Amino acid sequence: MSADETSFSSADPTSKIIVAIDGPAGAGKSTIARHLARHFGLLNLETGAMYRAFALKALRAALPLDESRGLESLAAETAIRLESGEEENHVLLDGEDVTGLIRNQTVTDAASRVSVLPAIRAWMVRLQQQMGAGGGVVMEGRDIGTVVFPQAEVKIFLDAAPEVRGMRRYDQMGPEPAQQPDEVIRDLRARDERDRNRADSPLKPAPDAVLLDTTHLTLEEVVAAAEAIVAARLVRLAN
Ligand code: C5P
Repeated sequence: MSADETSFSSADPTSKIIVAIDGPAGAGKSTIARHLARHFGLLNLETGAMYRAFALKALRAALPLDESRGLESLAAETAIRLESGEEENHVLLDGEDVTGLIRNQTVTDAASRVSVLPAIRAWMVRLQQQMGAGGGVVMEGRDIGTVVFPQAEVKIFLDAAPEVRGMRRYDQMGPEPAQQPDEVIRDLRARDERDRNRADSPLKPAPDAVLLDTTHLTLEEVVAAAEAIVAARLVRLAN
C-alpha cells in the first residue's frame, strides 16, 4: 500500500510517532525529513542546526573548540530553540534568529568539532529528548535512532557514496560556489571521519534501522521509499 492510499485520523499513531533519520553529511536527510514531515503532518526537527548554533556561539566567544570545560560552561548559559519554518527550521540562539548564519564553512567545521565532546552531546541529547517527548516528530541527525530516541517507531539510515553526496552539496551552492567539488568532497569526508570515529555516539545505523542507500536513486525515488517505510510502520502500529 502506498502512503497516499493510506489515510490516518488524528487519533491514530501518526500523532505520537517518532521518525528518526540518521546518516552522514549530504545524504539528503534534511530534504527527506522535510518531505516526511509535510506528508504525515509531523514536526520537523533538525538537530544538526542545534550543534551549528552552539558552534557559532563558541566561535563568537573565541573559545578553543576542543576545550571541553570552557565549552561546557558556555553551554550552561546557552538557550537553543528550533522553530518550524516553511523550508527549514529557524534556530534561535539565546533568542536571536541565527538561521542565516550557521551554514557557512567555518560554522560547519566548528559544529563538527564541538559535537565530538561528550559533555556537549549529553546537553544536546537532553534538549532533543525534551523537544521530541510528545512525539509527532521527524528528527534528523547522526545519533537519533541510537541515542536520542532508541525507542523511535521508525528509523531510517540514509547513506550515499561520498562523491555523490559531495556533488549534491556542490550543486546546492548556486551559481557562485564558495568551493570546488573536490574541496567539498574532502570536507565532507573529514566530517564523516570525525562523526564515525568519535568515542561518544559515533555515527552508525541502529540495529533496527532501515538502510536506504541513495547513491543511484533520484530524489523522488528516495522520497517514495521513505514514505513507504513510514506508512508501512503506521499500518503495523494501527493493527
Ligand atoms: O546535519 P548537519 O550537517 O547540519 O550537522 C552539523 C554537525 O553536527 C555534523 O557535522 C555533526 O558532526 C554534528 N551532529 C551530530 N549529531 C547530530 C546532528 C549533528 O554530531 N545529531
